[in-house]
Amino acid sequence: MRVAGLRPLLGGWWSLQSRTYATNSGLLRADDGEIALVDPGIAPDEIAVLHAFATQQGRPHYLILTHAHWDHLLGAAAFPHATIVARRPYTGIIEAHADDLRRQVARWAASQHRAAPDFTPPRPTLAFAEALKLHVGCRTLHLLATPGHSADHLSLFDAGTGLLWAGDMLSDRELPCVQHDADAYLVSLQRLRALQAEYLVPGHGAVAESQAAIAARFERDIAYLHHLIGCVDEALQAGSDLAATLKRCGFPLPLDDAANREAHRWNVESRYAQRAAHFGLPVPAEALGWEREWRGATLTDVA
Ligand SMILES: [Zn+2]
Repeated sequence: MRVAGLRPLLGGWWSLQSRTYATNSGLLRADDGEIALVDPGIAPDEIAVLHAFATQQGRPHYLILTHAHWDHLLGAAAFPHATIVARRPYTGIIEAHADDLRRQVARWAASQHRAAPDFTPPRPTLAFAEALKLHVGCRTLHLLATPGHSADHLSLFDAGTGLLWAGDMLSDRELPCVQHDADAYLVSLQRLRALQAEYLVPGHGAVAESQAAIAARFERDIAYLHHLIGCVDEALQAGSDLAATLKRCGFPLPLDDAANREAHRWNVESRYAQRAAHFGLPVPAEALGWEREWRGATLTDVA
């Protein structure tokens, strides 16, 4: 079957890639017609494609939100009867950042020459802490806590097909954006690598369809995080201020473009702000790193 905008993956899985940040939305249709959606769409026409397909093909039962960043939340309003699944820290984030999320959505809408949608961050009806087995018809999805990009981040593994839906990790176009914690991010990557997935869908960018391609993404991101953690902590140990740390940590990036250079700078700043007190150094008073994004700064092309 061909459906404009939707790409069949394997085992009843479909994906739709947004024009915004190449963000991937997912749809699993179990044999009995029960449907689970993942991060369902950004632009109204993208959400409409997912909604039409889901309602023609079966019953949209679950809506899984990988984390509380605006570009993963907009489609939820189109599925008011679905059970919204997220991790427990999600709720605290949308409550603390409701205005920031609305501002980010309004800024995106303005960039698209659209009126800002009436956006309220969706609230979960099924929240879990560490792991959840979700039965979608006859299928079983394993939802796993994978904090690091954000505190509430989750990934999803379909053991029946070997498909890993990684959320905002393991992208072919983005370095790890460490908006929460680099040590936790490393642990999460190691947790996912142990699953030995055979098919990888990142939150942004291209799927990886072989174990070799998947292994290469893990190796790249794990090496980057080791560099980041080692470099910033060594700088702090040496008593460096932030400017010296940024200079010292300008190592070659595996994905080198303007957006990833800026993301790396924000990663260094965030790590510095988080760890300075531990090394007995003053914590800079201004908003640094990814905190600046909540306050209204933007990267050119990284979600
Ligand atoms: Zn994100």
